[in-house]
Amino acid sequence: MPECLSGSVGLRYNYFPRAGLSARTEGNATRGGGKGEGMQITVTQVAENRRRHKPKSGETLGFGNHFSDHMFLMDYSQGTGWRDARIVPYGPLSLAPSAMVLHYGQEIFEGLKAYYARDGAVCLFRPDRNAERLNRSAARMCLPEIPVEDQLAALRALVRLDREWIPRDEGASLYIRPTMIATEAGLGVRSSAEVLFFIITGPVGAYYARGFDPVRILVEERYVRAARGGVGEAKTGGNYAASLLAAKNAKAQGFDQVLWLDAERRCFVEEVGTMNIFFVLRGELVTPPLSGSILAGVTRDTVLTLAREWKIPVAERPVEIDEVLKGAADGTLSEAFGSGTAAVISPVGSFSCRGQEVQVKGGRTGELSLRLFREITKIQYGEIEDRHRWIHRVE
Ligand SMILES: *Cc1c(COP(=O)(O)O)cnc(C)c1O
Repeated sequence: MPECLSGSVGLRYNYFPRAGLSARTEGNATRGGGKGEGMQITVTQVAENRRRHKPKSGETLGFGNHFSDHMFLMDYSQGTGWRDARIVPYGPLSLAPSAMVLHYGQEIFEGLKAYYARDGAVCLFRPDRNAERLNRSAARMCLPEIPVEDQLAALRALVRLDREWIPRDEGASLYIRPTMIATEAGLGVRSSAEVLFFIITGPVGAYYARGFDPVRILVEERYVRAARGGVGEAKTGGNYAASLLAAKNAKAQGFDQVLWLDAERRCFVEEVGTMNIFFVLRGELVTPPLSGSILAGVTRDTVLTLAREWKIPVAERPVEIDEVLKGAADGTLSEAFGSGTAAVISPVGSFSCRGQEVQVKGGRTGELSLRLFREITKIQYGEIEDRHRWIHRVE
């Protein structure tokens, strides 16, 4: 039984994700028997008087400051697999101090958003891509995979239950953070036989509350984020820990983010902060290829798909930092921007390298950056047709 707050109401759902149906049942939830039935999720709702503080409309939300009433949990043991899918009140986890994740960093996560579309429907943007990527990250980090349909069922059930937490302010959304951690108690260095998967959510504000302003970027030549053969292509916490010092130094010098270069030669561009990077060079949209040290962003894929449809020449190829700096100086680089779920598109105004700062297009936001930002957010909010079936409605 999941731990729950006293006085909470127990509800049990039978959940049939493949059929897109859910049915509430009384009595004990047992492990789903038949194939194709999907997993069953036990729901323990938070008591009315234990509801968390919900920020008011118009309140500055920021990012990652508020968490909604419930969370999804599921346990895994080697040999028996996943069990006990459940939604319970948001609260602390109980973990042995020797839990392997705390010592050896065996952890992965995802990030996506739920929001109200124009017509009032609750939507997710390409959640299947996040689920597939979680499984790729899991494979790299020796963690167990979860069927994509089960991940989607968990997301839908949780978002549906906490849909009142989705902010209705323009550009605001409910950020969703699926996470998997190694929970086996023990200090032996090996992959954990016990694993916890959880999903938490929380309202976040519009990224561009103060406008679509280009950012100042510092080219990082000393530290690297990831090396080929390492774990750069997995969405794992260690990559973020590895990036903190460089980001802190850059901020202290007045920059917004760092541009990461390749680990071997500090010659090729990799990513910008925690986003994928794009350049418009001589009219061609260029981004570094997925060579092993770069994260395969869902937004990156969305940008590439749209640009190809718009008949813009596109290349996934190595980009030398010198080409970028020269291009900014002589005008052959007309735009640069980062892509990621949080910001969607983040225009780059300047690059600074070895004490020299060069502006991109006079530090103004580029045309393509703006066009992509508008198109993607319009698709997300149901203002234009979703030709690619990227939107998943949470019924
Ligand atoms: C999550 C992430 C991205 C962006 O991926 P999206 O799926 O577009 O949000 C880019 N780089 C890194 C390092 C990331 O962790």
